[in-house]
Amino acid sequence: MSNYYDDAETRTIEQRVQDQDAMLARMIRLGYEKSKGLKRMLDGIGIDPRTIRSREDLSVLPVISRERLIEMETADPPYGGLADEHAAVDRIFISPGPVYEPHLSESDPLWARAYFAAGIRKGDVVLNAFSYHMVAAGLTFHGGLRKVGAAVVPSGTSSAQLQVQLMRDLGITAYTGTPSFLMAIIKKAEEEGHCFKKDFRLRRACFAAEPLQPSLRKTFEERYGIETYQMYGATEVGDVAFECREKRGWHICEEVVVEIVDPATGMRILPGQLGEIVVTRFNDTFFLFRFGTGDLSRIIAEPCACGRTSFRLDGIAGRVGDAIKVRGLFVAPSQLKKVQEHFESLRFQIVVGRTGHEDRLTVRIEPGQRVADTEALKEEFDRIFKEICTVRIDKIECLEPGTLPKDLKSIIDQRDWT
Ligand SMILES: [Zn+2]
Repeated sequence: MSNYYDDAETRTIEQRVQDQDAMLARMIRLGYEKSKGLKRMLDGIGIDPRTIRSREDLSVLPVISRERLIEMETADPPYGGLADEHAAVDRIFISPGPVYEPHLSESDPLWARAYFAAGIRKGDVVLNAFSYHMVAAGLTFHGGLRKVGAAVVPSGTSSAQLQVQLMRDLGITAYTGTPSFLMAIIKKAEEEGHCFKKDFRLRRACFAAEPLQPSLRKTFEERYGIETYQMYGATEVGDVAFECREKRGWHICEEVVVEIVDPATGMRILPGQLGEIVVTRFNDTFFLFRFGTGDLSRIIAEPCACGRTSFRLDGIAGRVGDAIKVRGLFVAPSQLKKVQEHFESLRFQIVVGRTGHEDRLTVRIEPGQRVADTEALKEEFDRIFKEICTVRIDKIECLEPGTLPKDLKSIIDQRDWT
């Protein structure tokens, strides 16, 4: 049996770009014809849809955030004029806002690539603990599981107690939902006196909608023998990326174009740098171009050992609003946490100031106890920080233990923009 969901996953990078650019060009021309909202937008900025022929050309269009989409839909319900009003829609999903989304074509492999990569196949019985009520989650994850041949138990947000019973009675082999809910189910099972590893057949879990903490992942895998996989997407654009067995970054789905942009300008940034994930999904119903997720990530362009040729996202570094920019590069709290993991007893704070027209990055580090060689410590810190955050530190101050306040703010921005 093939190791891939379909051949699209192993085509050459050049072929993918060529195929997807052609689909983009087609979608924008179709959207101009079918969607009055897109026509209005393009006419408003004076863009001829025929001039958009590649992903690079997309940058003439504005990035549409969730907030902006809500405004558009409120002004022109239900879809902000972005959908083909005459398309046959089989379902309409509602998410808080409210945001309305017409369900995309049944032929779209929505989430199937992710489940396939996680090893879910015919013969699996999967507990789908995503909500089926109003929102897209339950039914779209359900569809993906069916596409790889699994049987689905639509347990949705039923109580942990009921989920334990289903898991036991139905011989559930895999779970999909949030990591915290799976942990709640396991705890419930243990409370009821079960030995989870022995009494249940659950061996795989595919998570979305919530970050998977590395410590929790370790617990699932080592203590409970559950292989875990992360999936990433958004209600507005469906699935975006997923982990393969290598678990080193998330493969970008074949049905989307992902751009990493500077949220302030909407312009693409250099490969490898942190920026906002902006997604366009190929379809012929809902012409939402450049959806801004508000999540930060960067692209991994190196080939993956699994054989898929798609670029990968390097996880989610946080939300755009939580990060700061230093000399044009984002530094996110999650990156600082990663730096912290290398220095157990050390506390630190970054201070961003400005000298003339240039940002200046100072880091105050405070070792847990006195260190003999502060220069070596500074050098080590400088190296790790550069590796993780990609920003150069201008100055490191080594403080006496006990200098930094207890409720330490990890980032201080002293720049005055007025
Ligand atoms: Zn891979």
